[in-house]
Amino acid sequence: MSEHTITVAGVAVDTRHWIGGERVASAQTFPDVSPIDGSTIGGISRGTAMEAAAAVAAAKAAFPAWAATSRAERARILHAIADGVEKRIEELAIVETTDNGALLRSHRRGVMPRVAHNFRFFADWLLKLEHEDFETRGHTNHVSWDPAGPSVLITPWNAPLMLATWKVAPALAAGNTVILKPAEWTPLTASLLADIATEAGLPAGVLNVVQGYGSEIGDALTSHPDVRRISFTGSVPTAKRIAESAAANLTPLSLELGGKSPLLVFADADLDLAVDLAVEQYDNAGQVCLAATRFLVEESVAEEFTRRFVEKAGQLTQGDPRGEATDIGPNIHPLQLEKIDGFVQRAVAAGARAVIGGHRKDGQYYAPTLLTAVAQDSEIVQEEVFGPVLTLQTFATEDEAVRLANDTRFGLAATLATGDPERAERVTAQLVAGTVWTNCFFVRDLQAPFGGSRHSGVGREGGTWSFDFYCDLKNTVTSPNGWNNHG
Ligand code: NAD
Repeated sequence: MSEHTITVAGVAVDTRHWIGGERVASAQTFPDVSPIDGSTIGGISRGTAMEAAAAVAAAKAAFPAWAATSRAERARILHAIADGVEKRIEELAIVETTDNGALLRSHRRGVMPRVAHNFRFFADWLLKLEHEDFETRGHTNHVSWDPAGPSVLITPWNAPLMLATWKVAPALAAGNTVILKPAEWTPLTASLLADIATEAGLPAGVLNVVQGYGSEIGDALTSHPDVRRISFTGSVPTAKRIAESAAANLTPLSLELGGKSPLLVFADADLDLAVDLAVEQYDNAGQVCLAATRFLVEESVAEEFTRRFVEKAGQLTQGDPRGEATDIGPNIHPLQLEKIDGFVQRAVAAGARAVIGGHRKDGQYYAPTLLTAVAQDSEIVQEEVFGPVLTLQTFATEDEAVRLANDTRFGLAATLATGDPERAERVTAQLVAGTVWTNCFFVRDLQAPFGGSRHSGVGREGGTWSFDFYCDLKNTVTSPNGWNNHG
């Protein structure tokens, strides 16, 4: 084991970058801290413009051979990566939980198997990717997907490996080479992914991982003229910086950003189901972009809904995310906790009432909170908190429900609870949202387009939408005339 390897819950993790098939250390490190107990996990290579440039150069050098690799071979290697993920599910799960504080049982049973699925799905999709040829006045049109080139993928901390592989898998499948920059609060599983990809036979330079603070290494990646695609998941302010930086080279961007999604509960809904959906919004301590953080409840059932919600939320267990019985773990970082509490205290000062929660707990935990008496134009209703903080407003009519639902600058998702299919159809047609769930939540298929409207993003991920983004689409028009007669 090198001096740069740390042991995290028994798992060896290299703390250096992975560039051109080699581990590369920076002169400086930054501390990686566990949200579970605030302990320092280790020092991670603190990337600079130099390592960013080296990673782009490695991705550029590896691109022609990877782009020329047959679809079948690329798919085979992606499946081998999925096999490697499946073999290491336990290790990936405990390392991710130690690093970001999300529930170990979710990582084991849900998240890491889906990481493997991300690779299998895009490997299989690649083999079926096809557009039927068509004719124009006797000429044949043939559509093809050419790999675009080195792609910079920048990811957040709330679901680190899951969100990274939504991008890495289609980018590699498409024949692109990758520079992955994980969030500085959760650098570890990206390093393990580099090990797994290498064991699976991915050639050197095809996947590169650079670590570091976005503010220090980000611009060097996103403004680089050799980068052909940038895919980013994170916050709106960072997205704007990246868009400015990418503008110099008109580098195409895919942006998956924040949300302030509504849960609309109509009086005709199955209230127990609505309450189940509502309590789910505390998942991952509220650090979920898609979370329906604004409850909009029809007046006539609001009191009963609130009573049942409070009862159900009171049954949730908060604590160490490694515990099998835990429902809510810690928040990611002291800074995030401060931000969450700031939102809540300002809301309360402005007249909001905490039906439950409204305060910090010991360590890095925030009490699950529900705020009522909140105004539509208030900060707590308009801004993403990214913590276990929900608001409840009431409405009198369907029109009012739709108006309130659409009245933020976001448009990522919306969840409906209603017993009336016609109402569901009517309301859905009017909602501004990339995904609408009716009487369910978080059912997600990689074939579906995923992304947001307005400030929730630009573009969509999933299925053919991912391939369209990572490729240069080409239409080849061929005449029936002009051929030498080889007959
Ligand atoms: P963030 O914007 O602070 O950071 C995201 C990533 O960007 C990190 O890797 C960071 O290092 C990097 N970064 C920071 N400054 C940069 C710069 N100048 N140039 C390039 N990269 C830079 O976001 P976060 O706090 O890590 O994540 C939380 C946000 O992500 C929330 O707003 C959440 O809603 C959003 N999110 C969206 C989705 C989605 O799919 N729509 C999914 C998860 C999270």
